[in-house]
Amino acid sequence: MHPDSTNPPQFTASNPITPPAYTVTMKTLESLHFDNQFARLNEEFYTRLPPTPLHGAKLVASNPEAAALLDLDPVEFQRPEFLQHFSGQQPHPGFDPLAMVYSGHQFGVYNPQLGDGRGILLGEVLNEKGERWDIHLKGAGKTPYSRFGDGRAVLRSCIREYLGSEALHYLGIPTSRALCIFGSGEPVRRESIEQGAALIRLSPSHVRFGSFEFFFYNNKQERLQELADFVIARHFPEFQQADNPYTELFRQAVSATARMIAQWQAVGFAHGVMNTDNMSILGITFDYGPFGFMEDFVPGYICNHSDHQGRYAFHQQPGIALWNLNALAQTLTPLVPQKDLIDTLQGYEAQLLQSYHGLMFTKLGIQNPQHGDEDLITSLLSLLSANHPDYSIVLRRLSHDAPDKPVDHIADQFIDRDSARAWLQRYRARVQQQSTSDAERQQQMLRHNPKYILRNYLAQNAIEKAEQGHFSEVEKLRQLLMRPFDEQPEMEKYADFPPDWGKSLEISCSS
Ligand code: AMP
Ligand code: MG
Repeated sequence: MHPDSTNPPQFTASNPITPPAYTVTMKTLESLHFDNQFARLNEEFYTRLPPTPLHGAKLVASNPEAAALLDLDPVEFQRPEFLQHFSGQQPHPGFDPLAMVYSGHQFGVYNPQLGDGRGILLGEVLNEKGERWDIHLKGAGKTPYSRFGDGRAVLRSCIREYLGSEALHYLGIPTSRALCIFGSGEPVRRESIEQGAALIRLSPSHVRFGSFEFFFYNNKQERLQELADFVIARHFPEFQQADNPYTELFRQAVSATARMIAQWQAVGFAHGVMNTDNMSILGITFDYGPFGFMEDFVPGYICNHSDHQGRYAFHQQPGIALWNLNALAQTLTPLVPQKDLIDTLQGYEAQLLQSYHGLMFTKLGIQNPQHGDEDLITSLLSLLSANHPDYSIVLRRLSHDAPDKPVDHIADQFIDRDSARAWLQRYRARVQQQSTSDAERQQQMLRHNPKYILRNYLAQNAIEKAEQGHFSEVEKLRQLLMRPFDEQPEMEKYADFPPDWGKSLEISCSS
């Protein structure tokens, strides 16, 4: 673990560290198992090139849970070779670094030439569980796809992705992970001069909707098919037996995206830049930019200060994901009969609603939902939309509710208290029909309504300290967000309402 980290887990009689369910041999850097599948594809898929090292790079945050995904022993973070290999100074001999090519629709407009402009896929690890993890360095310097960019990332955005992706993971939402951050003294110009940094992101895949768009719009049907075959062979070998494997691939992209969006909506997560190049073919949360966790419930919440039209506002996400899936469908027309594409797209809304309602019933502690129960959700959403209380705090308070508790603890969060009280009485009457005890229901709800979310101001506090050279707050937040549903008495203030300044923070696209 990095020396800067606070509160490393202590093994004591009252706090036994549970052994993992399977045994893996923790590996050294030298014994990592690399299998760089993407680098074996045709060279039209990428440009092979090494990263450009950051001046004065040093390891400032490291995540032992993500190291475990690679079977990497976290003590390896402390070796100088880790910094050399992973920050780009001297790539690991097992790497085969490359910048991937893709295109995509940005804010609804097709951009024919995108690609990894500041990221490099260093290599791929095959772990002992048989999982494949791409190792991607964000902020790796210029590539042929940098266009006018400098190829760099800033410390602020690396910290936000580091914490945001880990937060989503521990909320149970599919996402890329974050292994570590390298800080540096290199200045990077954004709206002001900021500190350059780089992030190692791990993901089962970096193939995007935009990867398919690149080959489709360049009339490279053979490559398009090769890309689809690559994704199928790597992630869904069972599809190879289907009548049409590409239809299955599209069906899974639609289902996984619908499920992911339902999870975002249920937890109040806004991605901020749902361009098709930021949509993973696996339906995992990907390419973090100006994302935000909704605090006051405002359906039209725009987390990206540069999104003037609100194209990617919170309540637009389900529709935008469908728009993006349409763009993906277009690229698959040479491989999948049109009827299959249309039928699959038509199934998206039902899948999304089914997932969303399922998640909301769980959050509300409603078991065996009956006809009419959905109205409890829609009427709660109307109340929330009209009154803008803090979404997470209201649901957490509701998780402690029982008929003998005062209603005002919850109703006071709403301007229209009478309507809130009326909803709560209806809700109580409904849950009292269930055979489970109040205590059991409360326990279940507390496991699904987070006490701790990555509020903008919490991330901002950690960023400001990091910019002064102090990284312990980043590690503290990472550990906090690993247990978002648990009471953590010493961290009580992190569960509170944001201060006023924390509500007006503006996060722009520039990162
Ligand atoms: P993003 O908004 O991070 O998804 O990036 C959109 C596109 O711009 C991708 O092709 C990125 O690689 C590229 N890009 C973003 N920032 C930079 C940068 N600082 N330098 C070079 N390319 C960049
Ligand atoms: Mg992107």
